[in-house]
Amino acid sequence: MKEVLRIAIQKSGRLSESSLALLKECGIKFDNGVGKLKTIAYNFPAEFLFLRDDDIPGYVEDGVADLGIVGENVAVEKEKDVQIIKRLGFSKCRLSLAIPRDREYYSVRDFQGKNIATSYPRLLEKYLRDNQVQASIHEISGSVEIAPSIGLADGICDIVSSGSTLLSNGLKEVETIFQSEAVMIGQQRTTPAKEAILKQLLFRLDAVQKGKNNKYILLNAPAEATERIVRLLPGMRSPTVLPLAMSGWNSIHSVVNEDRFWEVIEQLREAGAEGILVVPIEKMIV
Ligand code: ATP
Ligand code: ZN
Repeated sequence: MKEVLRIAIQKSGRLSESSLALLKECGIKFDNGVGKLKTIAYNFPAEFLFLRDDDIPGYVEDGVADLGIVGENVAVEKEKDVQIIKRLGFSKCRLSLAIPRDREYYSVRDFQGKNIATSYPRLLEKYLRDNQVQASIHEISGSVEIAPSIGLADGICDIVSSGSTLLSNGLKEVETIFQSEAVMIGQQRTTPAKEAILKQLLFRLDAVQKGKNNKYILLNAPAEATERIVRLLPGMRSPTVLPLAMSGWNSIHSVVNEDRFWEVIEQLREAGAEGILVVPIEKMIV
């Protein structure tokens, strides 16, 4: 039988939708009907397993799955023999320590001798050790944020994105212990055939990510401003310069990185650019 890459993704939860969307953007078509545990792609040598995120690192370590998509927090917490192959840039969140809002707070030393509830005992233990704080860790698997109000713990260590869950439970965030995003994990032991499929997948992921991180930009500029504008827009190799029907004017096309985007736009306007259009890029292969 032809080899396929087995990719484990979260069955239902905060990673599911973005994981499926990313694979589809890579041109991989598959049917993910509700309740399905396994599905095979129509047009790419891959099979998908839908699992609880907590189980994914273990399945990847055992070789049941070749790859998995999980939060970096879970990838590190589980301490399995797996590597992070690619950062995926979605489901960004942080793991933070929080305490009741009305409690005063000075430093991490305030946790000395306290009880902390968390679903991430290993990450928390490492953080406390690095900060030379001795505290007792209560591992609980869900609804960590209610632990202080029911007297189970003095503080918690949990995932935060906007902080609204903490707020509605009367808690305040006092330390960030880990920054996370979705990652693709895998293991070193694999066959040459699977290695080749992985290479293809990584090539596609890279093209999708680069596309997301860049914008295509078109603008008009008087001929005398062209040289200055071209210097502001390095592009992939160099910008395209086309004459407009009106003499003395050019249309300039290029690619700009999202991070520098607004800064570049301002400089372009100062340099004399007009009629600036910004267009999303679906895939970018350099
Ligand atoms: P499962 O049922 O698969 O065990 P779960 O309840 O453990 O799911 P989710 O809440 O779906 O997990 O979160 C999955 C991952 O998404 C987390 O490990 C974390 O990396 C990320 N995540 C969690 N909460 C947020 C958030 N508020 N914003 C962004 N990302 C988050
Ligand atoms: Zn989970």
